[in-house]
Amino acid sequence: MEIQKKMHIFHRAEEVRAYLREQRKKGRTIGFVPTMGYLHEGHLSLFRQAARQTDCAIASIFVNPTQFGDQEDYLKYPKDPAHDRFLASGAGIEGLFCPDQTVIYPNGTTISVTISEKTDVLCGKSRPGHFDGVGTVLTKLFNIIQPDKVFFGMKDAQQIAIVKDLIDAFHFPVKMIACPIVREPDGLARSSRNVRLSAAERQEAVHLYKSLQAGLELVRDGNRSFSAIKERVRAYLKSHLSLGTVDYVDVLHYPELKRSKDDQIQGRFIIALAVNYTYARLIDNVTGICSGSCDKFR
Ligand code: AMP
Repeated sequence: MEIQKKMHIFHRAEEVRAYLREQRKKGRTIGFVPTMGYLHEGHLSLFRQAARQTDCAIASIFVNPTQFGDQEDYLKYPKDPAHDRFLASGAGIEGLFCPDQTVIYPNGTTISVTISEKTDVLCGKSRPGHFDGVGTVLTKLFNIIQPDKVFFGMKDAQQIAIVKDLIDAFHFPVKMIACPIVREPDGLARSSRNVRLSAAERQEAVHLYKSLQAGLELVRDGNRSFSAIKERVRAYLKSHLSLGTVDYVDVLHYPELKRSKDDQIQGRFIIALAVNYTYARLIDNVTGICSGSCDKFR
């Protein structure tokens, strides 16, 4: 029988730092999973990876105001701290860092990170300033936690591409581990925002993943054209969505997030989309590799 250890809850940066200093002295490695809470199986898969790959798995729960353009979306972001604690402790998390805004932004938002690469496409294009907020909060969290490994979900594939660059740019001595997307049985990517879908929207939302599969099908059939694949996904969504409106569909090389001039995919690529419903914006993606002789898709 597995004996559940008590999970530590930290609210202040000094508390979590002092605890982790002691763990490092004992030679333990630190894994870190930043989240905005309202945990689901997608987050828990990251927690389990962190617990498997490092000696001491730490997660944070902080709904970061600077990455929201829409104040209402920020204020309405779902929360359930007690349930989050229960889930995190059952998924191998040893310490949960739950700071408030004054801990993370002691001097307000006067000092921040600006990211001007890979932000002119996908979510960066539709949510100006979003990745500056993400980069700023992660810089702060990486400095507080000083992890050996950080775990992020491919659900936010653009975030992974950008955070890898942030790690390189600021010489954070940390390894990025990209974890696969966890889906509902019908294929919808797990998201804290799914609870904000109406029953009819939830039913329709299965078509997001199906549209990505339709795009992949074209690649499997030998089509390598960025624009043709994008058109295929768009056409699928057009004929299957009546409640949601498409924010973007794009096909790009990954992690460069660029298209080639000849419109031909070569190497790793991503098909990504975002769809707006009444109270929830959903994102999803699939990635694959076209290498001539051997193609792989996820
Ligand atoms: P969030 O709480 O939305 O900021 O997400 C925290 C982390 O969990 C990010 O690295 C996300 O990519 C990851 N994540 C969220 N949903 C999923 C999912 N369905 N599968 C895998 N990872 C996820």
